[in-house]
Amino acid sequence: STNIIAIVGRPNVGKSTLFNRLVGRRQAIMDNESGVTRDRSYGHGEWCGKFFTVIDTGGYVHGSDDIFEGEINKQVELAIKEADVILFMVDVDAGLTGLDEEFANVLRRTDKPIYLVANKADTNARAHQVGEFYALGIADEIYAISSQSGSGTGDLLDEVVKHF
Ligand code: GDP
Ligand code: MG
Repeated sequence: STNIIAIVGRPNVGKSTLFNRLVGRRQAIMDNESGVTRDRSYGHGEWCGKFFTVIDTGGYVHGSDDIFEGEINKQVELAIKEADVILFMVDVDAGLTGLDEEFANVLRRTDKPIYLVANKADTNARAHQVGEFYALGIADEIYAISSQSGSGTGDLLDEVVKHF
């Protein structure tokens, strides 16, 4: 199998930070097939002897908080088409937003496994705030992680690589 993980979610939740942690910054490869538009990046990672490819889909709105419905659809459709497992990332520091709900609504189109990942859970107090994201109705479990420190990412990967 191809073992492809896609990371999706609104801007600034920490997708690229997790991507870099999973693949190692030096391994990140920019996909130039679309010319100057760096609309996705691919990298390779390994966990417990399982090898995988990670797609960071956030490049459409790089450096901007502005995101349009078409961009959400494009990002999520890429993930649905190419990925075996989707990591839907939200930000526990910012809390639940309307854009998170828009992503969830598009993600409901797929039967592929979706992991709801609540990032920026840097402290135990923050990790205990993730419950509000159950309202997205997208997953029965929420993985509280800190992409910055790496906490929680091991437990997440333990589950994800079971698909590979
Ligand atoms: P993206 O737009 O979803 O790719 O988000 P980025 O990876 O670019 O991160 C957006 C901002 O959130 C940056 O300033 C990161 O340093 C910060 N960030 C990412 N992960 C964490 C985390 O686990 N904790 C905290 N406190 N900040 C984070
Ligand atoms: Mg990014």
